[in-house]
Amino acid sequence: MLTTVTAGNAYDVALENFDTAANALGLDQDTREMIKYPERILMVTVPVRMDDGHIHRFEAYRVQHSSVRGPAKGGIRYHPQVTLDEVKALATWMTWKCAVVNIPFGGAKGGITCDPKRMSQGELERMTRRYTSAILPIIGPEQDIPAPDVYTNPQTMAWIMDTYSMTKGYAVPGVVTGKPICLGGSLGRNEATGRGVFYTIECACEHIHIPLKGATVAVQGFGNAGSIAAQLLHDAGAKVIAVSDSTGCVYNRNGLNIPELIHMKVLCGHVEGFPESEPISPAELLAMDCDILVPAALENTVREDNAASVRARIIAEAANGPLTPAADRILERKGAFVIPDILCNAGGVTVSYFEWVQDEQHLFWEAQDIYNRLERVMKTSFRDVLKIHLDRNVPMRIAANMLGIGRVSEAVKIRGIYP
Ligand code: NAD
Repeated sequence: MLTTVTAGNAYDVALENFDTAANALGLDQDTREMIKYPERILMVTVPVRMDDGHIHRFEAYRVQHSSVRGPAKGGIRYHPQVTLDEVKALATWMTWKCAVVNIPFGGAKGGITCDPKRMSQGELERMTRRYTSAILPIIGPEQDIPAPDVYTNPQTMAWIMDTYSMTKGYAVPGVVTGKPICLGGSLGRNEATGRGVFYTIECACEHIHIPLKGATVAVQGFGNAGSIAAQLLHDAGAKVIAVSDSTGCVYNRNGLNIPELIHMKVLCGHVEGFPESEPISPAELLAMDCDILVPAALENTVREDNAASVRARIIAEAANGPLTPAADRILERKGAFVIPDILCNAGGVTVSYFEWVQDEQHLFWEAQDIYNRLERVMKTSFRDVLKIHLDRNVPMRIAANMLGIGRVSEAVKIRGIYP
C-alpha cells in the first residue's frame, strides 16, 4: 500500500488560506472572530463488538464549522489517519464551498479513525450505527446533514438514515445525502463530484485555450471523485494517461481505457496490474508531462518538496486540500492554473443540496434536470471566481475564498450577534 501523504496540518492550511482571503477582503476583526472557527465540535468514543468477539474503541468526530447561512453540511470520512484537526479543516472548507456555489448551507464534517479496508460489513454497520447514535443530538435535516466522503458510500448513508429514523420513529430521508435512490437519494448524486470537476475543467480549458479533446490528463486517486472525472474527461476526448490509487499507479502514453479500468477497480479493488499499462511511482504521476493534473485522493499531496516537479498546466483539485500554501506559491510562479477545491469539487455538495430539496418536497427530479442545474451552478461559480481572480489579480484559490468568506461575512453581519 502506498503511504498516505498527510504531512503538515490541514487545519493550519485552512486558517492560513482564511487569513490571506480575509486580508484581501479587508475583513474587520470582529467578523473574523465570528466566522473563522468551528461553532461546535463533538468528539465521541465508538465502541464496537468486532467479529471475533472483542470490543474495539474508535475515536470519532463531528465538527460544525458554520450554520450562518443554513444547516451545517459535510461528509463523513473513515480513514486510519483521521484526526480532529483534519476534520476541522474539512468542515471549514465546507463552509466556504457552500457559499462559493451559493447554496443555503453552512459547513460541517465528520470522521472516524478506523481502517475500513480491514473491517467486515457487519463491523462497519455496527460502527456506523453507534457513531450515528452518538452524534444524533446534533444532526438532522434542519441542523446538520452528513454525506459520503473518503471510504463511506450510499450504504453508509442508508445505515445512518435508518438509525436516525428508528430513533425518531418515522422515516427521515433528509438527514443525510448521498443515499441510495430507493431511500430518497437523488439521481446524479453519485457522479456529482466528478461531474462538477469536469465542468470546471471545461471552463479552465476554455479560459487558457487548451482544447479538451486530445488534452492529456493524470488522475491521483481513483475513487468516487477521481474515477468519474476521469470517465467524463475520457468521454470528452481527453487522454487520461496516468491513474493511481492507494495500491499503485498505472501509465499509458496513448491513453488508458478508462471504462475498463473502472471495471477492474470495481471487480478487484485496485488499478495496479491493468493490462496495456506500465507501473509508475506516485512521484512520477505528480510530475507527469500532461495538460491536466487531477489530485483526487487526500490532503497535502502536493507540497513544498514536490510542487516544482508538477508540469501540468491545469491542476483541478477534486480532493479537498491537496495543495499546501507553499505548493500554491510554487505553482503560481510556474504559471499553473489551479481550480481550487472549494470550487472544483463543489458539484458533490451542490447535488446533495438538490437531494435535500427533493427529500423536503417529496418530489423527485429527472437526471437531465439535475445535470443541467449542476452545470449552471458550476459554470456560474467558476465565472464568479474567475472574475475576482482577474479583477483583483489574486490566485484562483484566494479568489474562491474571497467569494465564499465574503458571502458568509455578509450573512453574519446582517444576522448580528445573539444575544
Ligand atoms: P473514495 O473513497 O471514493 O476514493 C478515494 C481514492 O483515493 C481511492 O481510490 C483510494 O485508493 C485513493 N487513495 C487513497 N490514498 C491514496 C494515495 N496516497 N495515493 C493515491 N490514491 C490514494 O473517496 P472520494 O469520495 O473519491 O474522495 C476523494 C477526495 O475527494 C477527498 O479529498 C474527498 O474529501 C474529496 N471529495 C469527495 C466528494 C464526494 O462527493 N465523494 C465531494 C467533495 C470532495
